[in-house]
Amino acid sequence: MSAPMSMKYGRVRNYYDGKFVESNSAEWLDVTSPLDGAALSQVPMSARAELDAAVASAAKAFETWSKTTIKERVQVFFRYRNLLEKHSDELTALISEENGKTWDEAKAEVEKSIELTEFACSMPQLVSGDILEVSKGVECRVEHFPLGVVASIVPFNFPLMVPNWTMPNALVLGNTMIMKPSELVPLSAQRMAELLKESGLPDGVFNIINGGKDIVENICDHSGIEAVSFVGSTHVAKLVYQRSTNALKRCVALGGAKNHLFVLPDANPAMTASNVAASMSGCAGQRCMAASAMLAVGDVDPIIEKICDEARKIVPGKNLGAVISKAAKERIEKFISEAERDGAKILVDGRGAKVDGKENGTYVGPTVIDHVTPEMSVAREEIFGPVISIMRTETLDDAIKIENENPYGNAAAVFTQSGGMARYVMEHASAGMIGVNIGVPVPREPFSFGGWNESRFGSSDITGKSSIEFWTKLKKTTTKWNPESRTNWMS
Ligand code: NAD
Repeated sequence: MSAPMSMKYGRVRNYYDGKFVESNSAEWLDVTSPLDGAALSQVPMSARAELDAAVASAAKAFETWSKTTIKERVQVFFRYRNLLEKHSDELTALISEENGKTWDEAKAEVEKSIELTEFACSMPQLVSGDILEVSKGVECRVEHFPLGVVASIVPFNFPLMVPNWTMPNALVLGNTMIMKPSELVPLSAQRMAELLKESGLPDGVFNIINGGKDIVENICDHSGIEAVSFVGSTHVAKLVYQRSTNALKRCVALGGAKNHLFVLPDANPAMTASNVAASMSGCAGQRCMAASAMLAVGDVDPIIEKICDEARKIVPGKNLGAVISKAAKERIEKFISEAERDGAKILVDGRGAKVDGKENGTYVGPTVIDHVTPEMSVAREEIFGPVISIMRTETLDDAIKIENENPYGNAAAVFTQSGGMARYVMEHASAGMIGVNIGVPVPREPFSFGGWNESRFGSSDITGKSSIEFWTKLKKTTTKWNPESRTNWMS
């Protein structure tokens, strides 16, 4: 079936055995650009048989890929890294078009994908095993082995970067992969497959199956898949974690977030204001590391005024991108209206934002809500839009209590000039990633990314050194070659 004439790109295809394959699905979803509502493509809701074909292709490729040395495998990724750089502008445009980000934000996503690939290229230096003479003449060695066919299920908010959180590390470590892109942004992953092929990745090592809930459930259940990594909302992360571990797979599932910023009266006003405004509004607030709640400890009114000044400089369609869909825009605006109804004060109001010439774009302006109380929905739930909810507390301990009681635990940050206060928050915040005078405390490579509580299920982080434990299994071999060596209960 050919694509309707008005669609900018052809229909999204599945990719396995090194080939793009048109799905025979009867169900296709439209892919539109949040920037202006333009029709981009259509994505299939693939059937189980198509997943089976992809798993078969990945299983066949695993037989040879897992037997190459890691030093050979990274050669592919040196080339892939260079292709990401070579096609940076084209990838930036595609990310922006399908996700709604600004050019600069999409560019940063490409740059981050390059950094992630560089980390994967350093893997030979990180996974050399251990060896020790454990008793006289007896040696124990530990080596990392790949798991087999693994799966990576990814969300809409980083169409290129999140796939590159998992794919380069998993593949360099000898696994083969099935990726399930977000049905809202399936195009960047297609381009990624083309670049991997051009880099010389053998057919079947990387595969894509498109779809939604049903295909994710099939991935969790599939006996040919050894491990599942998931990034998305907490509700789905829990389902995926439960379902895939029930099928006896290993699973790491990253969920949603409600990140708290502690602002203390001694904080540097200008730096704090620009960091808070950038953290809440970057990628239109659709980052799992976005500041969503601000805990104003004591009198920080002058800083709040500056935050509002900074927020007013952020203009939809200029330095603020679109939110992913009409439904997302409505949901975010509903949160703001509920807060207003419940007695909070809207200091900067982003509802009803429009961009001239892009009437079908889905924009929400930056929104600052003051005098929020911990029971309000804007204080408790992930909004995933450019909105910050300010809660006032008298003491730092009161603020910490609010942060600790929130079920999420991705990130938290403190703004202060006091080392002691910063240290106190570092120790007491219940989150996996902490910033001190930094609004988006992403631990860059080689450090690993992952939250606590309901922001992550499973025992390892998803990137960095921690991911090595997830993507490999250890083999411990004990050897003795000297027959004269004494035998005792330890040898
Ligand atoms: P989502 O949970 O709706 O979708 C994620 C993936 O799950 C998609 O591939 C989707 O097709 C699939 N899916 C959706 N509903 C499903 C269901 N009922 N059963 C099985 N699979 C299903 O998430 P999203 O809206 O694409 O992304 C935004 C969310 O992701 C936010 O909550 C954000 O915080 C989170 N996120 C978290 C991190 C992190 O590191 N913790 C990073 C990025 C995004």
